[in-house]
Amino acid sequence: MNHFTYKNGLLFCEDIGVTEIAALVQTPFYLYSQATLQRHFTAFDSGFDGTEHLTCFAVKACSNIAILNLFAQMGGGADIVSGGELLRAMKAGISPKKIIYSGVGKTRAEMREALYAGILMFNLESPQELDRLQEVAAELDTRARVAFRINPDVDPKTHAYISTGLAKNKFGIPVDEAGKEYLRARDMENIEIIGVSCHIGSQLTQVDPFIAALRKLKVFISELVQEGIKIKYLDLGGGVGITYDDEQPPHPHDYARAVRAELSDLDCTLILEPGRVITGNAGILVTEVQYTKSNSGGEKVKRFVIVDAAMNDLTRPSLYGSYHEVIPVREDTNPTQEVDIVGPICETGDFFARDRMMPVTAQGDLLAVMSCGAYGFTMSSNYNSRPRAAEVLVAGDRFQIIREREEFDDLIRGESLSRL
Ligand SMILES: *Cc1c(COP(=O)(O)O)cnc(C)c1O
Repeated sequence: MNHFTYKNGLLFCEDIGVTEIAALVQTPFYLYSQATLQRHFTAFDSGFDGTEHLTCFAVKACSNIAILNLFAQMGGGADIVSGGELLRAMKAGISPKKIIYSGVGKTRAEMREALYAGILMFNLESPQELDRLQEVAAELDTRARVAFRINPDVDPKTHAYISTGLAKNKFGIPVDEAGKEYLRARDMENIEIIGVSCHIGSQLTQVDPFIAALRKLKVFISELVQEGIKIKYLDLGGGVGITYDDEQPPHPHDYARAVRAELSDLDCTLILEPGRVITGNAGILVTEVQYTKSNSGGEKVKRFVIVDAAMNDLTRPSLYGSYHEVIPVREDTNPTQEVDIVGPICETGDFFARDRMMPVTAQGDLLAVMSCGAYGFTMSSNYNSRPRAAEVLVAGDRFQIIREREEFDDLIRGESLSRL
């Protein structure tokens, strides 16, 4: 459930009309509903009531500090993958004791900053990373708390680009090789083993792959226990999918129930790293129609709706061929026609929808691209020298610009004419 609904023929975000915000903020902009964000966080987190757990929101899904701060207030932690995300999590008031650091390519500087901050745990993804972390922690005369990210080689049955838990993916350490690394880590002076982790992919619509991974992790943890290695945290990663079109992902409570049933006697604190399932349907991208045109001459007449947002603002359709529902902000019962909704960027891949049945739209109409709250703004770029869009948060009948639209000066910040 989300809080984007039509009232008297106009799209509202909670209690404010989208047109009203657009008139003040200009387009394109990302629009988030605070009630939806909070509702989704609670829906996920409460599924694990009664189990020792920590919900660490995956910052890369939606990283505005205002939104991270909402989760901090609800007791949430953060799953980060860079020094920049560490900064965001800290600025948002997330306790470092609730920060997990994942990712295959942590630099020395990033390790230093995270150690200095005192984060809960590094999820290590290679033997070399362990060696480097030992060195950096020794330099700082501290101990790094670690888990290894196990690649359980299970098929998440999702898009190839967002599958991460198959042997052929770059992530984690194969389960057969991980034991050796735990034994090495145990003997390192500046390393403290506290966990085991995995993250098998994103936009999963079935529970089975999670359970398959969890089973492999349980077996592995019992092997570690036999070696006298105590595991305090079991990190199951993120990956629960959402409905963009007609997908039927598990309800977070069904996911939680299945996970908890499988945990049974395991004496670990569970860590979860949800991203998309919390913010995906809590944000939309609002854009204005600039032109409409049709190109005949091919097999059929193609109609194009050219909007002022583009693939630099929302890259998922171009990158993964992802489906996003697009609806008119002014509810429309006009006869529908088949259109491509495209942006102004000089790439054929710059589209939001192809061969989509839409109400007839005209210049100046506002459209809402739905389900943009995860991997939307965070994946945006300045391609074609387009300033990044504004981000707006709504709470009830009030709204706030939580990130200003970039200006032209932002585009050339740090650049200079050559003096060579
Ligand atoms: C991306 C990522 C997540 C979040 O994935 P979602 O599909 O958005 O839930 C969690 N953990 C790690 C390590 C990730 O890379």
